[in-house]
Amino acid sequence: MEKQEQMKQIRDELLDFKESPLYTYQKENNYFPVIGEGSCDTHILFVGEAPGENEAKQARPFCGRSGKLLDEMLVSIGLDREKVYITNLVKDRPQDNRDPTPEEIELYAPFLDRQIEIIKPEVVVMLGRLSMNYIFGKAGIKDLLLPISKMHGQLFDGEIGGRKVKLLPLYHPAVGLYNGGMKGTLFEDFKQLQQFV
Ligand code: URA
Repeated sequence: MEKQEQMKQIRDELLDFKESPLYTYQKENNYFPVIGEGSCDTHILFVGEAPGENEAKQARPFCGRSGKLLDEMLVSIGLDREKVYITNLVKDRPQDNRDPTPEEIELYAPFLDRQIEIIKPEVVVMLGRLSMNYIFGKAGIKDLLLPISKMHGQLFDGEIGGRKVKLLPLYHPAVGLYNGGMKGTLFEDFKQLQQFV
């Protein structure tokens, strides 16, 4: 099956994901699951945490304020948004932007696992602590985990599905919105990606 077809299959399953505790909330609010967007042939995969309200309304990842900052960071290193793939760990919006629960992460992670298998990225950029924790576990380097304040902006070597991957944990872009001082750190950390563009 074509990569796009496999992604569509994931979308169809998520549109009917009644096992999720977020299913009723989603239907009541006319929200949609956010599968991800971009190129399935990319070597760079971005993984955020979970969709916010704008994202759930438009079924697109990072299309609100955090997304605007992410777009600016991509531009700053000359990387086209269409050339990478952007998705989230959890595909449905948790109520009131709360963090997804460990149970929700466990329930949704297999969809991300399948996307990683489809894309086979060489570089995985984790936007935020929750996706960092999950991906480090998946890449077999859980023992290297420290608080994100000690990990951000550093490249790590891991292995997913028998393939070597570079892992780059970054602060979630929302951090730069709430704390202007952190914006500079985000842009600085983003420069680590330049070598893969
Ligand atoms: N925050 C995320 O983690 N993901 C999105 O898609 C938007 C905001």
